[in-house]
Amino acid sequence: MKLTEIPGVGPKTEALFMKLGIHDCESLTRYYPLHYDSYDEPVPVGEVRPGSKITVRGTVQGGVNVFPAGNKKIVSCVIRDASGSLRLQWYNALFIRSVIKKGGMYCFRGIVAVRRGEKVMDHPEIFQIDQYKKNQGTLVPIYGLTKGLSNNAVTKAVRAAFKLCGAADEYLPEQIVRHYELMDEKTACEKIHFPADREDLYKAGKRIAFDEFFFFILALRMLKSEEKDVPSDFRMKRCWETEDLIEALPYRLTAAQERVFREIEADLSSGKTMSRLVQGDVGSGKTVLAFLALVMTSRNGYQGALMAPTEVLARQHYEKFSSFIESVPGISVRPVLLTGSLKASERRKALEEIRTGTVNVVIGTHALIQDAVEYKNLALVITDEQHRFGVYQRRALTTKGRLPHMLVMSATPIPRTLGVIYYGDLDISMVDERPAARLPIKNCVVDGSWRANAMRFLKKELAAGHQVYVVCPMIEENEEIQAENVIDRTKELKKSFPDFTVAMLHGRMKPEEKNRIMTSFADGKIQILVSTTVIEVGVDVPNATVMMIENAERFGLATLHQLRGRVGRGEAQSYCIFMAGQQSEEIAERLSILNTSNDGFRIAEKDFELRGPGDLLGIRQSGEASFKAADPVMDRDMLKAAGELAAVIMQDDPELIGEEYEVLKRKIREYIVNTQGSVIL
Ligand code: ADP
Ligand code: MG
Repeated sequence: MKLTEIPGVGPKTEALFMKLGIHDCESLTRYYPLHYDSYDEPVPVGEVRPGSKITVRGTVQGGVNVFPAGNKKIVSCVIRDASGSLRLQWYNALFIRSVIKKGGMYCFRGIVAVRRGEKVMDHPEIFQIDQYKKNQGTLVPIYGLTKGLSNNAVTKAVRAAFKLCGAADEYLPEQIVRHYELMDEKTACEKIHFPADREDLYKAGKRIAFDEFFFFILALRMLKSEEKDVPSDFRMKRCWETEDLIEALPYRLTAAQERVFREIEADLSSGKTMSRLVQGDVGSGKTVLAFLALVMTSRNGYQGALMAPTEVLARQHYEKFSSFIESVPGISVRPVLLTGSLKASERRKALEEIRTGTVNVVIGTHALIQDAVEYKNLALVITDEQHRFGVYQRRALTTKGRLPHMLVMSATPIPRTLGVIYYGDLDISMVDERPAARLPIKNCVVDGSWRANAMRFLKKELAAGHQVYVVCPMIEENEEIQAENVIDRTKELKKSFPDFTVAMLHGRMKPEEKNRIMTSFADGKIQILVSTTVIEVGVDVPNATVMMIENAERFGLATLHQLRGRVGRGEAQSYCIFMAGQQSEEIAERLSILNTSNDGFRIAEKDFELRGPGDLLGIRQSGEASFKAADPVMDRDMLKAAGELAAVIMQDDPELIGEEYEVLKRKIREYIVNTQGSVIL
């Protein structure tokens, strides 16, 4: 149903929703809140801390006064309780004088800032005492916004959308819903927006996580079950060139790299079609394994392809591969680059060389699986990093009906014990060791009071010719969430560093635009990149030495760890500055885990232990991950349950022919269409 069917939503508002990726009522009901505001127990006035939204309860002392401030008028008063006093102020809101009375007691809800040494609550909402009591415990959804669209407007539209098109009906049999103690789907979809309390929100979140995992797993299983134990037409032999290349590397392979390469080698020589996932933390050195597999394939007289999620990464891989094979002179491996941005003539030439087999290693983006690409004898397909791993892709890559070997590289931190559930019966290799010889990244956890120092530090690094990442939790300003955003931060940094090029990158930009920015950064034409968490996984910019993360407390530790992995890739010392939005022992303690460990899995698990399953109020990552709401670590119970159920169903009726699976089948089809026939690993 169209958005304009919602009362109050005209073409203008519709266009704003489109900007957020919402195109109809159904997708609006699936636009989950980023965060929830809670009406908590009032804090004693003398104990308020700046930074987050809080409520105080106090008596208005003295009068309610009006001061001029530039062209604005400030209404101001002081409230008091047994613990102390606090100044409140409102801008251009003279009516406040008739709302609160001297000597009256109210609740005030807002954010406290420190101005000229004094704590001040800005523009608080005002509640009568019993009115606040009634609100207490409820949760208010906070959505990702864009200029011109308020949180209130989105909230209203979501409510209306539910009225108009209703939530989706339950697709799971009743006994299953009961067995796993799930909230039913319809309720969950509504409650994730409008929970009555935390318990409600918790259950809704769990149900949505269950569904996300369930479809993900089923889609993967369907892919794998088709290809299980297929004899391969591409049986290979081990070759000397790979050994020579390993010898010629400027470093020694870690034991983990060595082991995983032998596993790949064994697969390729086994006579069966390989379906292997190589999992390893950022920086564990997966690329070289892909390169070796490509060399082995080409030396056996076949073609191999390496597919990267972006042009930048594809180009980087191509260049590295070319110099990699040069270290052993006379090796006849002939690579070609194939991306969407090649000139028509270059592309024609590349396609011709691929068809005739003049080249035997193809490195590129999605372009390399398009219809126009005709391979002579494609025997191995490798996909690298957070790639949309297509349910149909593999089929598309058969040459004359012959199925290629498949290798997938991933850095997603899935707890070891859950890997099997998550990835089904893909064979898994773990690169669970990091190269030793590298300067460790220096970390520091600071708060806003250190900002001036941070800016001086950035200046120094920039002056030395290095590059800097600045990561913010939000794209745009949000009236309800106190956190740095990419758009404003970019403007500020442009002002502070007029001699350097500052650019931004976020998930709402067009793919070509993102590509262009990332390429310029990799080429050193941009010095400061301000971004959300979408910074390309896997891109290697060794010249970037500083990662500064704003509102670090808003991110999961696993995400922070991944971000940190973007620096520390070159010779120079690298730094990671975790900027906390507020001073707090708790935050410092949580972030300090990052100082003690370098293992992404361990960090994710530790974070889980520390935050516990009840932590629902952090900002959901609005990145481009496989899941909108689910978190493989936090929701591991649901991952287990979904895996279990998927296994039972696949055994019972792998084709989902039975009548009882009709709705489920339709849902999976929808899922596959919505994810463009692919899942992200
Ligand atoms: P990822 O697993 O994140 O894809 P990369 O393959 O990009 O990691 O490797 C990161 C960096 O580490 C690269 O610059 C690579 O050359 C280097 N590297 C890989 N293996 C080793 C090793 N055994 N010793 C030292 N450096 C290595
Ligand atoms: Mg990589």
